[in-house]
Amino acid sequence: MKEEIKRTNHVVLTSHSNQIYKESIPVHWGAKNPKERGPIVATISDKGNRNAIGTHSGSYTVYRALSIATGNFPQDHVADLVNTHATTVIGPHDSWKDPEKLVSIDPWGAQINEHYKDYIDKGIDVRPTIAVTQARLGIMEIKEAIEKGRLPVDGKIVTKEGDIKVTKVAIEPVWYLPGIAKRFNMEEGELRKVLFQETGGMFPELVTRPDLKVLLPPIGSSTAYVFGNPDDLANPDVELTCRVHDECNGSDVFGSDICTCRPYLTHGIEDAARTAQRGGVGLIVYFRKEGRALGEVTKFLVYNARKRQEGGDSASNYFYRTECVAGVEDARFQEFMPDVLNWFGIKKIHNLHSMSNMKYDAIVGSGIEVVNRLSIPKELVPADAQVEIEAKKAAGYFTEEEVMDDKGLDKVQGRELEDGEE
Ligand SMILES: [Zn+2]
Repeated sequence: MKEEIKRTNHVVLTSHSNQIYKESIPVHWGAKNPKERGPIVATISDKGNRNAIGTHSGSYTVYRALSIATGNFPQDHVADLVNTHATTVIGPHDSWKDPEKLVSIDPWGAQINEHYKDYIDKGIDVRPTIAVTQARLGIMEIKEAIEKGRLPVDGKIVTKEGDIKVTKVAIEPVWYLPGIAKRFNMEEGELRKVLFQETGGMFPELVTRPDLKVLLPPIGSSTAYVFGNPDDLANPDVELTCRVHDECNGSDVFGSDICTCRPYLTHGIEDAARTAQRGGVGLIVYFRKEGRALGEVTKFLVYNARKRQEGGDSASNYFYRTECVAGVEDARFQEFMPDVLNWFGIKKIHNLHSMSNMKYDAIVGSGIEVVNRLSIPKELVPADAQVEIEAKKAAGYFTEEEVMDDKGLDKVQGRELEDGEE
């Protein structure tokens, strides 16, 4: 067994009084500049410097722990950040200096080397929580859009190979707990207590260290794909087409036909690229909130319950079956979603590809103007997803089409389960 493993045999609980480090670097959330705000230190290579709860990489921190446990990963590794800097510098924007505008992102998290070099030089392990790079997207539906002449090859946004050029930004959640509590209209203490209890007591500091105000939660990150010049996102005079998309692995990646997620996403990408081609800018933000943030196991259980219910899968019972299995129709919260938009300095969205009122209300409530709302075109809805789309429209999701009454909803039926079921 390697040396690093032996050292972990002595377990120090974070509730021990000797874990309270008076010399922790203070965090002044929403301060006017990064120096005054202070770095967020969440690495565990030197516990004494930590001024945040949780650690980097979201849910992947568990894999990191396993890697250390098996001796493959040096526990005291310090990141070498040479050449990792952003391909495009975003901001700073006014929202970065407002403690209430951004509560779930570290606005300075993309430029750790620039802002916190003096700390890094002193050996403090400050890590980026945002990374910006460039990519080309090769998507089947986009190639079709090019072939059919809906997207011209311009060499600037759409390459002659049929790929789309983008800037992509990975953003890890960094939660300022007092701000998060305020968004939910609750006491910080209550929020911390419930987070501690309902994760099986994962982070004792939530209750033992009220002085630590920042949490890096073990959840998925978000990714923003920018079509065109990222600087234009902050200019309300430049046309912006945007979709904020919650992950649906079954549809997004595997093309499962029970919902509209992939066609909505690829339609959004096509329109975002087209907007950039006519001098505007496009943005797709992809949030890891699988199955309405209930997870895939719950989602698949709901599919079966929907299809096996008396009378079959119908639009009239769509939300009801989810609530029966999960306890709630939808566990997503959109309260923090606009933080990504505000981080980019967005003030106006000209074309919002979303039918969700929760998303729309959250965006408008965060001070961003929305000009047009766009629902998914009828011809892109898969046959088995008619149940979902009609149920959503009847429940008040945004649409320009006619909304069905109860009788009509009963008639919208999904496919039955096939071979081997019962
Ligand atoms: Zn879906």
